[in-house]
Amino acid sequence: MHNRYSFTCTRCGQTHVCDTGCAFEVPYHYFNLSDEQKQSIAAIDTDFCRIQHAQQTDYFVRAVLEMPVHDDQDLMYSWYVWIAIDEAAWLDYQNFLRGTAPAQKAAGWLANQLPGYPDTLNLSVELLPRGGGLRPLAFVQRIPQQMAHPLLQDQYGGFSVIKLRSLSEHLVHGTGAVGPASTV
Ligand SMILES: [Zn+2]
Repeated sequence: MHNRYSFTCTRCGQTHVCDTGCAFEVPYHYFNLSDEQKQSIAAIDTDFCRIQHAQQTDYFVRAVLEMPVHDDQDLMYSWYVWIAIDEAAWLDYQNFLRGTAPAQKAAGWLANQLPGYPDTLNLSVELLPRGGGLRPLAFVQRIPQQMAHPLLQDQYGGFSVIKLRSLSEHLVHGTGAVGPASTV
């Protein structure tokens, strides 16, 4: 398994070396806060984010959503995304990390807009905690209203090297990216 690859860009003709991953530094919900709100109601580090609104508190954890590349078995594309979870799931996950509770699957909602895809905010996902300091895995839920979503199809069906290059060109040249995304 390798996580860097190179290709000749159809936009600029140069050879780009890209990582097979894309990381979001913050949840979309945090990105949209004012600077003052970021200071006063939000807490964030590399893996956890909490936003305390007057009516409710929003909880987010960082996870990995992996997509196989079906015409190159050595490649796996990883989205380092934020997932919104409810308070009960947040507490379960904290207890799991402390070693006081077993790993529990949790329902969550995607909290980033992935470039190159139609609306991905609030897609239902299943979160699978992993030990050993690894971030939890996120799987798009196979529910009827999401079965046709391209992200679900790419995660379960794999996507092509051509689509991988197109995505990388999109990220390298920064056209149409939404929110703070970067290659890792
Ligand atoms: Zn280029």
